[in-house]
Amino acid sequence: MSNFLPNALVERLNEQEGFDSEAFNKVHEQGDQITSIRINSLKQNSVPFQNAHPVPWCDKGYYLPDRPVFTLDPLYHAGCYYVQEASSMFVAHILKEIALEGNAIRALDLCAAPGGKSTLLASYLGRESLLVCNEVIKSRANILLDNIVRWGTSNIVVTNNDPSTFGRLPGYFDLLLIDAPCSGSGMFRKAQEAIDEWSLANVKLCSDRQKRIVGESISTLVKDGYLIYSTCSYSKEENEDILDWILTEYGFESIPIALDSNWGIEETRSASHRAFGYRFYPHKAKGEGFFVAVLRKKEDQSTFSRKRSKFEKSGVPPHVVSEWLAQSSDFTSFMHGDHIHIFPKKYQEDLKWFQQVLYIKQAGTIIGKWTGRELVPYHDLACSVHIKTDLPAQELSLDLALQFLRKESMHAGDFTGVKSGWCLVRYKGVNLGWVKVLPNRINNYYPKEVRIINL
Ligand code: SAM
Repeated sequence: MSNFLPNALVERLNEQEGFDSEAFNKVHEQGDQITSIRINSLKQNSVPFQNAHPVPWCDKGYYLPDRPVFTLDPLYHAGCYYVQEASSMFVAHILKEIALEGNAIRALDLCAAPGGKSTLLASYLGRESLLVCNEVIKSRANILLDNIVRWGTSNIVVTNNDPSTFGRLPGYFDLLLIDAPCSGSGMFRKAQEAIDEWSLANVKLCSDRQKRIVGESISTLVKDGYLIYSTCSYSKEENEDILDWILTEYGFESIPIALDSNWGIEETRSASHRAFGYRFYPHKAKGEGFFVAVLRKKEDQSTFSRKRSKFEKSGVPPHVVSEWLAQSSDFTSFMHGDHIHIFPKKYQEDLKWFQQVLYIKQAGTIIGKWTGRELVPYHDLACSVHIKTDLPAQELSLDLALQFLRKESMHAGDFTGVKSGWCLVRYKGVNLGWVKVLPNRINNYYPKEVRIINL
């Protein structure tokens, strides 16, 4: 028995047939740290690090040989990649397997902060889908929004609601991802705090909370819609038992996912309903502890009345959006306060329904502030993958890019290409933000909330 890991956990894992507790303990004692990133293929075609190796179950995922100081890489701030634990990237494989990749669907990521799986969904579901990313904890919803803004797509609504609120949109979503808050044993190798905080009582508390989260939100899934349920816990009370509970309480079927045996992922079956689950153990798969399962709703689900509302004037002068955005005809624009947002035209009715029942933190992309005469472009527009590529821009060296990201003053001599006005700052061809070039100075418009501090 390990002196290092909680005995109560290892004893229970030992009850599983074929569980190799020696290898499990050893991998935790060794404490190797694995670093992986997932690239944003709308901004970056190749992995921007040397000697990276592909994550086998995710074609945009890469293991890095060591952990760089990501804060000092401008491409990280520009949303060219997301630093994500490799096991979690298995959701990409699931989307392929259930044929949702690239399909135009409505998806909800219910427990979304800080945004790892949301950015993955955004990449794999593609531009034609609508993604709602929800986080109940306000401070974490802000971090989620920062990461969504960096990712740069406009088909996303970030909300800050209790899961029960989604019961007001019955039969609406085609995909519901519940990456549930859990007891965190899967993170033992990465974080000592996870070990210190672990207890059987907490496993029970998490299990009850998981049932509540699922129970209060499940009606938002349409008939034949998919539920992807995941945790970073090894405890069956939070994993297979939750699947059994769902299958007992609601009309769902379990969906098996094809695996490559070289990946080291373990397929498990729940005790009562024999539901399929996928377990990642760090001594078998190259990643941290993770559990994921896919269920499909088979019962009828009532829905809400989708009245079409009257067309309202947006108040946005028509030329403004096309001046700054490529393919502007795909978007509707609207004013919120004095900010101009863009949002996919095909989902504008959906947004009206959301406004009636959800607390929306942000819908689509804020392109800027309208002064009545001109647009003051917003940071979100600089991060957007929909921004025009021929706007005035200045490429900077690494040192100058970091100076910009620290929101330090910039020198006019470094902006030789642009005489006056709004200018994008670029590093390796990717937009980082805005400066305004004035006759004798440069104003740095990088948002102070996301600037680099202390490095
Ligand atoms: N999906 C995220 C990602 O991949 O980056 C990680 C989500 S984390 C495992 C679980 C999230 O659930 C946390 O952001 C946490 O704040 C949120 N949460 C905590 N309690 C909750 C509750 N009662 N209902 C819904 N979400 C909750």
